[in-house]
Amino acid sequence: MDHRRVRTPRTTRFLPASDPAAADEAARVLAAGGLVAFPTETVYGLGADAANPDAVAALYAAKGRPAFNPLIAHVADTAQAGRAGRLSLAARALAEAFWPGPLTLVTPYAGGPAVCDLARAGLDTVALRVPAHPVAHRIITAFGGAVVAPSANRSGHVSPTEAEHVRADLDGLIDLIVDAGPTSVGVESTIVDCAGDPPRLLRPGGVPRAAIERVLGHPLPSADASDAHRPAAPGRLASHYAPRAAVRLDVSSVRPGEALLTFHGARPPGAEHAALVLDLSPTGDLVEAAARLYGALRRLDGAGVPAIAVVPLPPEGLGEAIADRLGRAAAPRPEAAAGPAQD
Ligand code: AMP
Ligand code: MG
Repeated sequence: MDHRRVRTPRTTRFLPASDPAAADEAARVLAAGGLVAFPTETVYGLGADAANPDAVAALYAAKGRPAFNPLIAHVADTAQAGRAGRLSLAARALAEAFWPGPLTLVTPYAGGPAVCDLARAGLDTVALRVPAHPVAHRIITAFGGAVVAPSANRSGHVSPTEAEHVRADLDGLIDLIVDAGPTSVGVESTIVDCAGDPPRLLRPGGVPRAAIERVLGHPLPSADASDAHRPAAPGRLASHYAPRAAVRLDVSSVRPGEALLTFHGARPPGAEHAALVLDLSPTGDLVEAAARLYGALRRLDGAGVPAIAVVPLPPEGLGEAIADRLGRAAAPRPEAAAGPAQD
């Protein structure tokens, strides 16, 4: 089995943010599907083109992130945010008051390719932020699109507040580190869910609740994790991405009428009678498989089959994250439980 792209060493270059070409070079690497660590006012982020599922899958692989938690899309200004998400009046008031800055707003996704399914973990909402760090702003502006940027560390490690921390974790796994010295805020962004009314606090962070309440003119309730209809943290839902078709995992044979979701050319008995066969990666590349997962589930579901049979996938690398997503797709729904993904 070939998992080269999961471990493919990359040559990690270093550029000081004072280099006049740094922002343009970072934008060029992002546009080519590469991974760029850059400072935000909170911590160093690991940036990838939010519209490019291959780049987002490579980001998960570089972080060693165990599950596909949705990512925050970083944009240059409120106008760009307003094209990716549908900003309510409350969201606009908060954006006006706190952007650029350490505030993330969850809004209904406006559709289109700006933030791919994988980056949103298949949700119909999107988390948006306009960071205040001038280097982050220059890079995002030069790039022109939305940039997903979780903390630039290996999963389970402490978030990086200096370029050296990034190098210690990700040297040889990413393409470029833009160094602008230590970051200022060091605590993550506050996340407010503005997809419903009233807005709710999903994660406390750089902008205090009281400051948000002053702008809203009323109290900001915390998200209630028991509210199955409006999940506080999407990663906590057992059933997270839910195709209409039933999903049968780790099959050793295909039943009549089922569609087959396979990997690395595997054809279990009965495959010849499958309603449809999709191979997540004929070459056995788990990064490619991750990038294709949501699209494949949608296509199989769109074919109207009663059930999707899924072959076992290798557990290493992104295989764990794929298994996590497939497990949620197969789980009874809707239903709470399961632990949140770590980042
Ligand atoms: P970070 O790991 O700092 O990049 O932050 C990601 C956080 O944003 C995670 O806790 C996610 O659960 C949260 N998040 C991202 N997108 C959404 C969304 N659409 N709805 C709710 N929370 C989200
Ligand atoms: Mg982190």
